[in-house]
Amino acid sequence: MTLTLKYPALFVQRAFIGGEWTGARSGATLEVDNPATGATIGTIPDCGEADTQAAVDAASAAWPAWRAKTAGERAALLERWYALVMDNVVDLGRIMTAEQGKPIAEAEGEIRYAASFIKWFAEEGRRTDGHIIPAPEANRRILLMKEPVGVSAAITPWNFPAAMITRKCAPALAAGCPVVVKPSELTPYSALALVKLAEDAGFPKGVFNIVTGQAAPIGSVLTGSETVRKLSFTGSTRVGALLMRQSADTIKRLSLELGGNAPLMVFDDADLDLAVAATMASKFRNAGQTCVCANRILVQDGVYDAFAEKLAKAVAELNVAPGDQAGSTIGPLINAAAVEKVTAHIEDALAHGATLFAKAPEGATGGRFATPVILTGATRDMRLANEETFGPVAPLFRFGDEAEGIALANDTSFGLASYFYTENLHRAFRVGERLEAGMVVLNTGGMAMEMAPFGGIKQSGLGREGAHAGIDEYLETKAFHIGGL
Ligand code: ADP
Repeated sequence: MTLTLKYPALFVQRAFIGGEWTGARSGATLEVDNPATGATIGTIPDCGEADTQAAVDAASAAWPAWRAKTAGERAALLERWYALVMDNVVDLGRIMTAEQGKPIAEAEGEIRYAASFIKWFAEEGRRTDGHIIPAPEANRRILLMKEPVGVSAAITPWNFPAAMITRKCAPALAAGCPVVVKPSELTPYSALALVKLAEDAGFPKGVFNIVTGQAAPIGSVLTGSETVRKLSFTGSTRVGALLMRQSADTIKRLSLELGGNAPLMVFDDADLDLAVAATMASKFRNAGQTCVCANRILVQDGVYDAFAEKLAKAVAELNVAPGDQAGSTIGPLINAAAVEKVTAHIEDALAHGATLFAKAPEGATGGRFATPVILTGATRDMRLANEETFGPVAPLFRFGDEAEGIALANDTSFGLASYFYTENLHRAFRVGERLEAGMVVLNTGGMAMEMAPFGGIKQSGLGREGAHAGIDEYLETKAFHIGGL
């Protein structure tokens, strides 16, 4: 282990089932590597079906006592967990950079963002109010009650290894649902460290379980189980559709945060400096590996050349380097397949007439590093117009009038985030209302924050995370009719 931690117990290489840190029954393990170097960081248990079933059983056993606690008691545990996460930002950031690759500053930012969901849902857990409906008869009352859905499963991706854990588990726990979480096998240690801190905070045994290992056997138990009433998944649309099919037989409640193909539109009347700063934030965060990264940058004729020049100047400031090196702004991509996809998208675009307009300075190269590029002359017949690139490639498409721009923006089967830049109030409303996305972002770069609902329409998913909506995903509505009064 090359990690230097103030609290070494945060680096855990075990699953957590029913309050015990354990290996897989089979004894099998998987290796986890550092994407900047390819070096092995450690191993994790390769949990199979029996281990996953044990975690589900432990969660089920813990449910009655957990749901019986008051919202205030659950909130107190969540607040303690929040405080421990905030106390350990530096260690958690180091663990994340080692397994995921993102620059330390971004990793620490993600830890604080992850913590914000714990605090938010500790608070929202106290506000799961029901209400009383006026009844049709004088001697009847109709009470609308909010109750925890039950044992919940979370399957999370590698691009936000901490925030995706807390965005799902904190509202579940606050609502009174025990959790079984399966983190990405590429980035399990951030999740394990968060669960270690939850153990330190004092959550009862069985309330919070984590199984690590290969996805398919764990996923088949979680989706096939009648005990698991709810599945929350963040990842690709392909796997989301598979999990939805697997969940059909048990009519499971689902939250799915899937892929995006975000358009970012720059109109002639935009503040170009603001649009460039926002494009940099949206496009290059996490080396372009986020589901809300601008995938298609649509620029109106009148400012196309000026925008491209300004963006090139900003890209020239990027620093491609291992995430633990001072000043790094772009770390490695997660694995070789990610690099291959980025390379293939660039080659396909160039073959279809795009121009390599600008590049970031040559920093770290080889291995899993990809140099950020700007492509001009992008068109809709290129792969990058239709698939998520998930890397540091900024393709600039050109459009004429507003209607053409909107049609281009909506020309995708996804609908997660859409960004646009204009100083014209009329246009702001017209375009904002017509963009087909769960999140529309005008004149700023981001929208991921604990108090705002995050989620998509079309093939980008089902449900919302964060905000009050995020806890509703773990609550059932019971209509309680009382007659004969
Ligand atoms: P990404 O493209 O972001 O890697 P994936 O959808 O492949 O997204 O992975 C997201 C999460 O889904 C990870 O935890 C991964 O292990 C898990 N996953 C992948 N395939 C399956 C499967 N067949 N069943 C259950 N989980 C899966």
